[in-house]
Amino acid sequence: MKNIVIKLLVVILASFASIAAFAQELDVGSRPDNTKLKPIKGTDAILTAWGIVPGKIRLSRDVGVKEIVSFSSNPKALKILVDEAREYNIPIYGTVVPLVGKPEQEMNDEENAFRDSILADKTKEKNKYQFGGEPYHDLEVQDLSISCFHHKKVREKVMEKIRGVIMVDGIAGVAFDFFGYSNYRCCQCPLSMELAKRYHKKHPKMTETEALEAFSLESLVDFNNEMADYARSLKPGIKVRNHVHPVFLPDLYYGNRLKLDICCQTAAWFMEPYWSRERIEEHVRIIFGKEKQYYAFAEGAALLGTTATEKSSHPPKSPERVEFELRTMLNAGADRIEVCSWGDVLRSPKHLNIFKRVFNHGKGRR
Ligand SMILES: [Zn+2]
Repeated sequence: MKNIVIKLLVVILASFASIAAFAQELDVGSRPDNTKLKPIKGTDAILTAWGIVPGKIRLSRDVGVKEIVSFSSNPKALKILVDEAREYNIPIYGTVVPLVGKPEQEMNDEENAFRDSILADKTKEKNKYQFGGEPYHDLEVQDLSISCFHHKKVREKVMEKIRGVIMVDGIAGVAFDFFGYSNYRCCQCPLSMELAKRYHKKHPKMTETEALEAFSLESLVDFNNEMADYARSLKPGIKVRNHVHPVFLPDLYYGNRLKLDICCQTAAWFMEPYWSRERIEEHVRIIFGKEKQYYAFAEGAALLGTTATEKSSHPPKSPERVEFELRTMLNAGADRIEVCSWGDVLRSPKHLNIFKRVFNHGKGRR
């Protein structure tokens, strides 16, 4: 009898513990408690939208968007947006990605097998795979195949794309995306491995792993900076910005080493498990606290990754959750917030209202 009572007690206590854990998860989940956060009554922080379709620039302006990054690098598509935006005085940027075909980055067998499993998974959630954000699983890789920028041919193709964007009359500048490694660490193609070996010879005090990481980081930073210099050489005064993606695991916050006018690093990622308030605050403190460590002109920006409707390829965040993340970022000192994917946010009046309340509070239509 005594044993049964003890067993019962253990079961009851265990279920209380799991309810508590569940409740805690909910607090950072889809229904966060916004009352714990100071309300934001209008802010001078700059809102930048990633992803736009023609005909939506006025609506974006009315909810407080100050800058727009189009996913396109197509000069004709960008010209249409530039012409539409002129009336609203909104700068338009075109995006350049190093997805330019062969030679592509190479990974090991285990990493290739993970990519194959992601490509075969047709669910929206894909078992918590993070698509290039900080991984949930011990092993994750980018599902898209990024070209190896250690090859001159790839850098030349990227420069050609930059030229196409920069030469659009009236364009504000260029945004870099997918400047990173498919496996979030390095490229294992023969050329990259040879370059890493040479780097190790020059830095004999490092272990092989340390040398590979240092080489991979330095060459990634150099690639960004060379491409930024190239863009500026084409049209002085042009702005160069980015989103740091995919993540570089040996150094999550390398973005401030980049010679960019605005460097956007993730402060809250798209997918569940959503980031805790503490994690968002820590990222914001680093993004803005260290933005000028390498370049005095560099501005940091915080990415709020969200989709808003079922039309998107990722499960949407609730409006409450988006508001929680927005307030957390602003309370922690963010003065630039970039939202991706804006094209989907535009489909949801509830989501748009949050941005309007925060970024265009009391101003209404100008
Ligand atoms: Zn390579």
